[in-house]
Amino acid sequence: MTDAGDPLVRVRDLRKYYVEGDSLLDRLLGRGSRSVKAVDGVSFDVRRGETLGVVGESGCGKSTTGETLLRLREATSGRVEFDGESVLDMDGDELTRFRRRAQIVFQDPFSSLDPRMTIGEILAEPLRIHGLPEDTGDGRSKSEYRRDRAKELLERVGLSANQVDRYPHEFSGGQRQRIGIARALALEPEFIVLDEPVSALDVSVQAQVLNLLDDLQEEYGLTYLFIAHDLSVVRHICDRVAVMYLGEIVELGPTDDLFDDPRHPYTRALLESVPRAKLSEQGRRVEALSGDVPSPRDPPSGCRFRTRCPLVIPPDDVDIDQRTYREVMDLRDRVESGDLNPDAVWDAVGDPGRADKPAFKRHLREELFDTDLDGENEDVVEKALDALAEGDGDRAAETLRERFESVCETTRPVLQERDHPAACHLYDQPVEPDAGRDEAEARAD
Ligand code: SF4
Repeated sequence: MTDAGDPLVRVRDLRKYYVEGDSLLDRLLGRGSRSVKAVDGVSFDVRRGETLGVVGESGCGKSTTGETLLRLREATSGRVEFDGESVLDMDGDELTRFRRRAQIVFQDPFSSLDPRMTIGEILAEPLRIHGLPEDTGDGRSKSEYRRDRAKELLERVGLSANQVDRYPHEFSGGQRQRIGIARALALEPEFIVLDEPVSALDVSVQAQVLNLLDDLQEEYGLTYLFIAHDLSVVRHICDRVAVMYLGEIVELGPTDDLFDDPRHPYTRALLESVPRAKLSEQGRRVEALSGDVPSPRDPPSGCRFRTRCPLVIPPDDVDIDQRTYREVMDLRDRVESGDLNPDAVWDAVGDPGRADKPAFKRHLREELFDTDLDGENEDVVEKALDALAEGDGDRAAETLRERFESVCETTRPVLQERDHPAACHLYDQPVEPDAGRDEAEARAD
């Protein structure tokens, strides 16, 4: 890790939406198109010389963010600046120069190297594509220069210059990832997106590759965006960490702060999956996640984490235990999404005549509640279960919504302007300007 400086990369409100169901067949069948919000309004800086980690579960949009800011995918909207220049507006020579200065290392060292090319050819290729060198200046031909450069790069990443004529299949996974890193270094970039660079490697090899990345950063003054799903990996290499959930950044902060004082309930849940090295962390309270990750095709309103959050906030005027509120919200989510099928419940109860409503309700309570309800909360849930037993899911959902609607579903939380912000209503919230989201939606339609 190095001292971080001013921003080399500035990302503001970046969005990448994909349109689904827009084929000729979809149109002939009258199926409407809809947008998948892979990245939905992320903003962050990567300071010169630092490593910024981007962490989240598979499908959260972290790789799409890296590829979109490098222009490997076209953004739907937003702004990316590299060294003060607008990346999304670049073309021609300007874009070519940017592509020299900003590189990527992919996760899979097995598929990212062309098996028909020798390592020498693979490492010389970026130079050839960019027409480099313009002049060797020492009598060597350009191809001799590139071959010598390939040998230098191999040695720099801990391999031998003698291996220059070998093919990718002759190397182990860790060695192939070293070759991937050497290829990214060929054009002497300033910025590298490392997209899960050690996820496919054995744990013992991971540490060696992470050390290599650290050394190269030090030696060449590199700036890294380090994408990972594993928090334990980012802890040792990153200066700061951004946590992503369903296309949004939910928390961002200096690595030690984020690990010592995780603020967003999602970050806390992710940390629960990391073995605790420090004794002081071993008694940390476990806040288990409920439910599956929702689809980015139809993300939840308000806070996208609300369908799983153990701390989802009850309305001010409802007095309810936190765990019970989570259970009521799980019931609501299942009713509203149509996951809870009353027919299946009647089948489970063994009452095809649908006469025994108490048995129907008892079955659902046993399935969905570990805690007890009382007072008006109990009355409302009972009314909703009655509606379900009568096959009226809409009435059940409406009954629950009227009493239990949360600020977490009505208002989208955003990151505050501070060193360690968290997009969560448990912390002060500015009012969200949502204009960017509307503009991006209009473009995706
Ligand atoms: S805004 Fe609400 S649902 Fe989202 S993380 Fe915070 S408490 Fe949980």
